Amino acid sequence: MSVLWVLGAGQLGAMLKQAGTPLGLDVRPVDIETTETLPLGKDDIVTAEREEWPETHATKQLSTHNNFVNLATFPQLADRLTQKQWLDRLGLATAPWFPVEIGTTARYTYETLGDRVLMKRRRGGYDGKGQYWLKQSEESEIPEDWKGFAIAEQAINFDEEVSLIGVRGKNGETHFYPLTLNLHINGILYASISPLQRLNTLQAKAELMLSKLMDALDYVGVMAMECFRVGDELLINELAPRVHNSGHWTQSGASIDQFENHVRAVSGLPLAPIEIKSQSMMVNLIGVDLDYEWLNIKGLEIYWYKKEVRPGRKVGHLNFSSNNDDLLQGALTKLDLPTPYNEAIDWLKINLPK
Ligand code: AMP
Repeated sequence: MSVLWVLGAGQLGAMLKQAGTPLGLDVRPVDIETTETLPLGKDDIVTAEREEWPETHATKQLSTHNNFVNLATFPQLADRLTQKQWLDRLGLATAPWFPVEIGTTARYTYETLGDRVLMKRRRGGYDGKGQYWLKQSEESEIPEDWKGFAIAEQAINFDEEVSLIGVRGKNGETHFYPLTLNLHINGILYASISPLQRLNTLQAKAELMLSKLMDALDYVGVMAMECFRVGDELLINELAPRVHNSGHWTQSGASIDQFENHVRAVSGLPLAPIEIKSQSMMVNLIGVDLDYEWLNIKGLEIYWYKKEVRPGRKVGHLNFSSNNDDLLQGALTKLDLPTPYNEAIDWLKINLPK
């Protein structure tokens, strides 16, 4: 039987393996630093849990395999410059932006994009890392080592942040989860809620946007589209050609979770319409220790990544799904987490249906 290799052995790889197990699939996440020679078979399939990777013994073996699904797409989306160019070409709305070149001045940036501008490094930025705010009021200048390596974006005064997780099969068939409402604090995802009835009016528009992109790339698997909602408009902030943190709630709230959908799609197995089982919320565990006392909270599911706990590091997540609104609200009053979780818990209490 063929093996599904996953480039990367972090939590996403582990959850892909977990999803493949009941289907009888042999899913093997690969640590990119391994010096092993991988027993790659001709009919094996390769996917990735990350959008970019350094050249190592392991990544060289995987990226030269004939069945690496979406191989050409990863570099296109991992570089924020080419990602934005794709979105512009397809007429998909984003924050106004331009590339930061060697000769770009802060003054030009303020004239073009306004007095608050967010620079993002083209590569490697995640969880709010690789960002640099330019503020005219503080006369900020562009550091030399950002010139040629970043894009500049207008600061968006968004109403809220939402994401759409979709899956596309080899035959072009697509399925989508309902939009997810996300809370980021300092650029890192703290909490998600889905579904939310008030977002239903944006669902069709969001699906069209992501379909256009997945079709243009002839993409196979799960893709995530993070957006700013500004009134009735959606501006795409970022795309991830992989399973995504804002889709973790699907593990408890949907008939098929994002990990199983990805595994099915890249393996060429049938996809099926997704049924939403219940109201879900997800809380990321960021720099906090595991506490098995949480298991006393009815309806709570722990996903612990077995990583060393460090400030700002995602070390796990909590899923809660229920059709009893009181149960979800009650769980929130019992969760005892340090600052800034008070902000996240209040946000969940306010935004969950009551
Ligand atoms: P990113 O690394 O692009 O996903 O950005 C992380 C977070 O920074 C987003 O989820 C937003 O909360 C914030 N952010 C990113 N881009 C902008 C922008 N153009 N204007 C305002 N906030 C932004």
